[in-house]
Amino acid sequence: MVSLMKIDLHSHTNVSDGINSPSELVGLAKTEAISVLAITDHDTVEGWQALAALKAPVGAGALTIVPGAEISCRTANGMSVHMLGYLFDPLDDELNQAMSLTRDDRIPRMKKIIGLLNEAGIEISFADVAKHSESAQTVGRPHLADALMERGVVSSRDEAFKKYLHNDSPFYVGHFAPTPEEAISAIKRAGGVSILAHGLAGSRGAIYSTDEIAALLAYGLDGLEVNHRDHDDDARNTLREMARAFDVFATGSSDYHGAIGSQRLGMEQTAPDVWEGILAQGKGCEVFTV
Ligand code: AMP
Ligand code: ZN
Ligand code: FE
Ligand code: FE
Repeated sequence: MVSLMKIDLHSHTNVSDGINSPSELVGLAKTEAISVLAITDHDTVEGWQALAALKAPVGAGALTIVPGAEISCRTANGMSVHMLGYLFDPLDDELNQAMSLTRDDRIPRMKKIIGLLNEAGIEISFADVAKHSESAQTVGRPHLADALMERGVVSSRDEAFKKYLHNDSPFYVGHFAPTPEEAISAIKRAGGVSILAHGLAGSRGAIYSTDEIAALLAYGLDGLEVNHRDHDDDARNTLREMARAFDVFATGSSDYHGAIGSQRLGMEQTAPDVWEGILAQGKGCEVFTV
C-alpha cells in the first residue's frame, strides 16, 4: 500500500534558531501537505505550546503536531550531541531544569564566542546577536551567523559555520548541557521517546563511534534519526542497520530551520509504522491538531 502520509519529526521555529514563527511553520507544513510535524526547538517547548494554545486552526487542512524538543547535550569528553525527545511531559521538573540551565548558560557562552571573534579582529557585539534572536528563548550560533551576515562578514549561515562557528573552530565555546545519558533518562522518565539526532553528521564536528552509539542503545535510547540531510549513504546504512539490530525506531526528518540552502519541510520523512510506534510509546503528553 502506498501511504499518502508525510511525516516529518524534526523542525525548528524562531523560538529557537529557526527562521519561521510557529504559525508560519504550520502554514508551510500545510502547503507541503505534511500530515504529522514534530516541533523540536532546541531546549524549549514554547514554540509548540504557543500553537497548542491557539483557539482556531492555522490555514486549511488538518496537521498533527507532535510536541518535542531537541536537547543540547555534551559528553564527558566535551563532544556536542543532540537528543530529540517526543511526547514527554512538558511539566516534568528534571527536564525543565536541564533545559532552563542550558538556555541561561547560552548567554554568557555567546558573549565568550563574541569575545574570541573580537580578539581576532571581527567586529560584532552581543547587541547585534540580540537583534537576531528577539523571538528566541534559546540563543544559538545561527543567530550569531545572522549577525555576521548583517555585518557583511559572511554571506550565509553556512559560510559563517564553515569559517568561524563550527564545533572544532578556535572560536567554539560550549555551554552547560546534560550528558546524552542524562537526557535519555530524563526524557524517558517524563514519559517521552528519545531519538539520537543526526548521530553520524560528521561535517558538523566530532561524532560518536558506532560502538558508542551501540552503548547508548543498550542504555535505553529509543531510536536513531537515519535519514537526515547531513548523513551520506554510508551513514544512513550504518544507522539503519543498527536500528534494525537493536529493534529501535529509525526515523527520517528535515531538521527544517527555514528556507536556507537545500532545506525543505518534509525533505526527509519517517515511515508511518515507525510513527505509530513512537505515538504508542509516548505517554507524557498528547499530539494535537492545528
Ligand atoms: P548551538 O545550539 O548554538 O550550539 O548551534 C547549533 C545549531 O547550529 C544547530 O542546531 C544547527 O542549526 C546549526 N549548525 C550546527 N553546525 C552547523 C553547520 N556546520 N552548518 C550550518 N549550521 C550548523
Ligand atoms: Zn538548530
Ligand atoms: Fe541538531
Ligand atoms: Fe535540529
